[in-house]
Amino acid sequence: MADALVIGAGIGGLTAAAALARRGWKVTVCERAASIEPVGSGLAIAPNALRALDTIGVGDRVRELAALQGVAGVRRPSGGWLSRADVEAARARYGDPIVLLRRATVVDLLADLLPSGALRLNTAVRDVDAASGRVTTDAGELRADLVVAADGIRSAARRALFPGHPEPVYSGVTSWRLVVPGGGVSAPVVGAESWGRGLVFGVMPLAGDEVYCYATAAVPAGRGHADPAEEKAGLLRLFRGWHAPIPELLSRADPAGIVRSDVFFMDTPLTAFHRGRVALLGDAAHSMTPNLGQGACQAIEDAVVLAHLVDEGGSVEDALAAYTRDRLPRTTAIVRRSASINRLTRLASPPAVFARDTMLSLAGLTGPSAALRQADAVFNWWPPAS
Ligand SMILES: Cc1cc2nc3c(=O)[nH]c(=O)nc-3n(C[C@H](O)[C@H](O)[C@H](O)COP(=O)(O)OP(=O)(O)OC[C@H]3O[C@@H](n4cnc5c(N)ncnc54)[C@H](O)[C@@H]3O)c2cc1C
Repeated sequence: MADALVIGAGIGGLTAAAALARRGWKVTVCERAASIEPVGSGLAIAPNALRALDTIGVGDRVRELAALQGVAGVRRPSGGWLSRADVEAARARYGDPIVLLRRATVVDLLADLLPSGALRLNTAVRDVDAASGRVTTDAGELRADLVVAADGIRSAARRALFPGHPEPVYSGVTSWRLVVPGGGVSAPVVGAESWGRGLVFGVMPLAGDEVYCYATAAVPAGRGHADPAEEKAGLLRLFRGWHAPIPELLSRADPAGIVRSDVFFMDTPLTAFHRGRVALLGDAAHSMTPNLGQGACQAIEDAVVLAHLVDEGGSVEDALAAYTRDRLPRTTAIVRRSASINRLTRLASPPAVFARDTMLSLAGLTGPSAALRQADAVFNWWPPAS
């Protein structure tokens, strides 16, 4: 039995570990944190990632536990629609809609697929040797036939394997994520993003009467408040006067549950997603802005493609070269597209916002399927047949 060592138990690392274990690899996952409880927020899983999750046997569980987004689209701060698509049209086009669930639910489903004893918490990886597959951790040295570096946007493995490659850059926006109770809200909770001047507010219904909200603002990095109550007060000020139920949802937020993070992304793609026996995956390989809701979805795609390729029978090095050929062009295009939407959301001057909104509403006038067609290149992806 071949050995795989996965660095990082985020969504990318857990999916890779599950996909490899399913194919008979002996898997060890080293996670530096003491637990794998993710930040309290929601996660959109698009049809492409649902198909990938089907290959490891959890696609249907995700569909069951998720809230299906009734309508998705872009609104003005006043509530008027700039463009919209609906769940049935998405299902007809892609076989599935985008589904929404708590991030912790996805992590739990994936973690349940790991063989017992595979996950080693409190185990930080300190060094990786690409040629031999030797990994130095806090708890000693390990060796594996395949090392999967899924250690996130600040990946130390990426720095070690591609020294001098530019670090992720600030996207120009900071983000907030929160989950609030949705019961009894005075206006319908409709899944949508609302775009203002340099501001975005997303409302996404979750199963169980909860609502996942996220927001972005075009502000310099590093301006977060140390006091959660101040953070909440700042958000309420930013979105005062926006359409219902945004201010009401915000007023329900537990300040301690608001997660603020400055958004960075890799605007210079790597030249490869592998070196020797090490594959980079997820945010470690191609961190992107959240505008397409594809960061975790692409990590999931990476993981199932990688597991398929290393199971083909050739050498690990050849399989990883094929992994780069498969994943680098697709993820690079998605990183770029996401960044260009990010630029649109940062526009703040009235003439630029007017031009942007006119463009969006003209595109919307051609009907909901026009909005969906935009997503074809991302959602029309199928995992390799095994
Ligand atoms: C506001 C916002 C909203 C988003 N919404 C969506 C969405 O709706 N849909 C979507 O698909 N994506 C979304 N994303 C993107 C998504 O969150 C990320 O792309 C995804 O979580 C990346 O997963 P990962 O496993 O690659 O990395 P991570 O989740 O960052 O996991 C990396 C793991 O590695 C561990 N680690 C790091 N270094 C070491 C080490 N040396 N040794 C051991 N362990 C280590 C870390 O502790 C961590 O657990 C969003 C992002 C943001 C900012």
